Amino acid sequence: MEGILLIYLLTNFFIGSCIASHACVIYDRYSNDDMILSRSYCKNCNNMLNLLDEIPIISYLFLKGKCRYCKNNISAELFLTELIGGFTFIKIDFSSYNELTTAIMISVLLIIAIFDYKDKEFPTILLLTPFCIILFTKINIIQNYSIVDLVELVPITILLITLVSKQKIGSGDLFIYLLIALYFNPSFANSTFLIASILLIAHYIFKKQNITFPFIPYIFIATVFQLLLE
Ligand SMILES: [Zn+2]
Repeated sequence: MEGILLIYLLTNFFIGSCIASHACVIYDRYSNDDMILSRSYCKNCNNMLNLLDEIPIISYLFLKGKCRYCKNNISAELFLTELIGGFTFIKIDFSSYNELTTAIMISVLLIIAIFDYKDKEFPTILLLTPFCIILFTKINIIQNYSIVDLVELVPITILLITLVSKQKIGSGDLFIYLLIALYFNPSFANSTFLIASILLIAHYIFKKQNITFPFIPYIFIATVFQLLLE
């Protein structure tokens, strides 16, 4: 039984790292037409990568973080993203319809987090899929929100709208809050934002730099943290 569990976890970890790896590819090729199917290549020497160079996590370790052809360093951020991706999906039951929609939700959230990390903004079109999923799967739950749910949801939403109008945070952060609150539940979204804020403040103090930090990567980490604890 334990052996089966281990295979299950390792398979999910591998699937997760593949999803994360592809999320990075989607970011890289956003402006290109052939986003999904074209082969990857080294950005330094332009050599096409073969399948063995593209196995998430394993290829990076095997190649010691360098391109096979030109020995240029491969981004450690890619490796880290694949690692986080592995843990992100480790508990997802891909055979369950409910959890499959959760997998899609967090995949899109991951892509948005990568955009936010790199560009401090993300294409609004990325919100379309999550909001369609909410519309088709959660509308009954949202219509039957209890007073407790509304007390969790409304004040934080008003607070975030106020912060957006004062340009303290971007409107993207507000949309991500609503997305998490409506898909999971308002209480989940509030604790996610609390954990994300603590991580952000800790990073700010640690770095001591007066720069603007993208918030969505922290929200993503906090979401994963909560899903793993559930
Ligand atoms: Zn190269």
